[in-house]
Amino acid sequence: MRLTDTHCHLADKRLHRDLDGVLARARGAQVAAFVCAAADLGEARKALDIARAHEDIFCTAGVHPHDAADAPRDYLRRLGLLAAEPENVAVGETGLDYYRDLSPRRVQRRVFAEQLDLAARLGKPVVVHSRDAFDDTLAVLGESSVEPGRVVIHSCTENAAAVRRALDFGAVISFSGIVTYRKTDYLRKAAALVPADRLLIETDCPYLSPEPVRKMRTNEPANVVHVLRLLAEVRGEDAEDLAERTTANAAGFFGLKL
Ligand SMILES: [Zn+2]
Repeated sequence: MRLTDTHCHLADKRLHRDLDGVLARARGAQVAAFVCAAADLGEARKALDIARAHEDIFCTAGVHPHDAADAPRDYLRRLGLLAAEPENVAVGETGLDYYRDLSPRRVQRRVFAEQLDLAARLGKPVVVHSRDAFDDTLAVLGESSVEPGRVVIHSCTENAAAVRRALDFGAVISFSGIVTYRKTDYLRKAAALVPADRLLIETDCPYLSPEPVRKMRTNEPANVVHVLRLLAEVRGEDAEDLAERTTANAAGFFGLKL
């Protein structure tokens, strides 16, 4: 079985201080590839260094909606340099977060749209974070020149109706440990709808430890197997088949050399 954690924050100090241990546990749990996500320029720089040092780690470069207002004036040029590196496999995470509203919404929309343009220019896929903002997320995506099939809705928390809209748009959907939580029946219903070739799995670690290890304060890529097992169960699929399938999807979507 080969698993791929398509969204892990390995540059976060909670994981980075024991990176060798984190990676050894993940590889022992059959994680064959890691996409190291970045939410700002500093994290993107560190993610690139991590990816350069490990053949099974790939990285992204983006500015999270929380940080949109703090992005330096020349952030897009700097992001472009990082995203053009061969170890980089996507622009993101970028998107809209109207739940926490840490940046003004119009700034979030502008910085999101600018990063979509960058992705289109570089021919890279996009990792999208959307929370309580799905209408606007789809609207900004629809107005952009990004190819719908090159968009992943990461750590999806949308209900079945919204997931259907995302699928109609053409996006790929990625589920994190949130799908394992007791109160997220709506999300399990949504997960059952996603065609097997449009599905990815992730931990979004160090956040969002899945059941049955939810008490772990620092989530890590080894736990992606719990997301896989839950999805296999709700979809009525064999876990090993789904592992291979989602790894093949990740390789295709991000262009990973596995
Ligand atoms: Zn993330």
